[in-house]
Amino acid sequence: MADLYIDGGWRPARDGGTRQIRCPADGTLVTEVDEATASDTVAAIRAARHAFDHGDWPRTDAAERSDVLSRTAHLLRRDRAEIARAESLDTGKRLVESELDVDDVIGVFDYYATAAADETTRPVDLADPSKASRIQYEPIGVCGLITPWNYPLLQTSWKVAPALAAGNTFVLKPSELTPSSAIRLVALLAEAGLPAGVANLVLGAGPEAGAPLAEHPDVDLLSFTGGLHTGRLLMATAAATVKKVTLELGGKNPNVVFADADWQASVDNALTAVFLHSGQVCSAGTRLIVQADIADDFVTEVVERAGQIKLGGPFDPDARTGPLISAAHRDKVAAYVATGIAEGAVLRCGGGPPSDPELTDGFYYLPTVLDQCRTGMRVVQDESFGPVLTVERFRDEDEAIAFANDTIYGLAGGVWTSDAAKADRVASRLRHGTIWINDFHPYVPQAEWGGFKQSGIGRELGRSGLEEYREAKHVWTNLRPAPSRWFD
Ligand code: NAD
Repeated sequence: MADLYIDGGWRPARDGGTRQIRCPADGTLVTEVDEATASDTVAAIRAARHAFDHGDWPRTDAAERSDVLSRTAHLLRRDRAEIARAESLDTGKRLVESELDVDDVIGVFDYYATAAADETTRPVDLADPSKASRIQYEPIGVCGLITPWNYPLLQTSWKVAPALAAGNTFVLKPSELTPSSAIRLVALLAEAGLPAGVANLVLGAGPEAGAPLAEHPDVDLLSFTGGLHTGRLLMATAAATVKKVTLELGGKNPNVVFADADWQASVDNALTAVFLHSGQVCSAGTRLIVQADIADDFVTEVVERAGQIKLGGPFDPDARTGPLISAAHRDKVAAYVATGIAEGAVLRCGGGPPSDPELTDGFYYLPTVLDQCRTGMRVVQDESFGPVLTVERFRDEDEAIAFANDTIYGLAGGVWTSDAAKADRVASRLRHGTIWINDFHPYVPQAEWGGFKQSGIGRELGRSGLEEYREAKHVWTNLRPAPSRWFD
């Protein structure tokens, strides 16, 4: 079967291109998929445009769209095991993590199945009874959706579910490294009864298969999740056609631990914050900002436990985290650690690939702790997107907040303290889109997700995540039309 889905049919790439997908855990061939060029993407945009301008989907009532989303959630439940396996083979992440990801994806479809029917019009109160006015929420049009490789299906669901709930059509371009779960999702959308042309899928490299989604005048909205550099480029490109742009970019997320925090919980979660999925999480708590009074003991315990984390492939039941996505990415992480050491950071553990001979075919990198860091260092400022924790020490609340906000990013952060008033004060002053108090990482589909500052523009999830895919149209009715006599 061909892998590009355009106008309701599976098609090969026009120029016959293909790409091999290999598992990052051991380099084995997972699958070979069709590789689109820009002309395939333009064909997909045309199909989405036609389906939006002439098809029924944008004009279906909300209940019908809700049904399609609910049926998709049901089909995802049916195929959970197969989809999780595909996701793990593409990404190298543990199967149990992929299974949890699919559960989250189901939750997202269920949430937007309900939200689809939320307020589709809003009456506007007027003092004048001879006039009526309402706000009508309408789909934006054709959406270009570009997603990354770390949570391939999850990030895709955050875009696809609200885009459909609002009545849009779309062209999806997943990361070229991890296309398998997107192929399955699009097949399930078709099985759930989505009309031809509404969902379109192109696979391939960003600058070739993805670029038309930012350039083309027939795309009304570009929703991108990925790196800061790519986000800046796409935003600049999209400016030429003044399309709406939403960006979910990187993070350099502080995890602030006060001396009065619960010791066991804060040490344990300092590890989860940064080493989950080997640090390939946009909201990873890569900056441990710990109160000086407890810092030495705290870091010693984190280092001890980091050294015990077992690495392994997706199906190794003892493994607690997996490989990095590619050799190039591992090189990037290694260069980042070298920079930190050159800047004066002290390597406390990790700092290279594991010596286990069973792992030599995968792109593994040991959990790494860099101590004695200062906010100005590049290693504290730049996103590594790997299993690397930097440690900064603070004296008081003001200094903790200053350190935590000293970043161009603003995606997420954690605060650990047993003083509830202090926790709320700090949470209010942190310039990040999500703050966890005495926790790290949880998110729910009904709560907004997104970044302050250069972590992005707009919000995914929650009510705002639906609004991104809607236009608010004002309809004014004069109930007693009469000449205005302005020019008499
Ligand atoms: P990336 O920017 O390299 O690629 C992301 C997507 O953009 C891929 O599909 C890629 O093919 C495409 N792309 C690349 N160049 C393009 C171009 N010129 N035109 C069109 N498309 C192009 O990012 P990545 O390495 O896949 O993902 C890692 C990054 O994603 C990290 O910075 C991470 O923080 C970020 N991320 C953010 C969130 C969030 O919610 N804020 C979530 C996950 C990942």
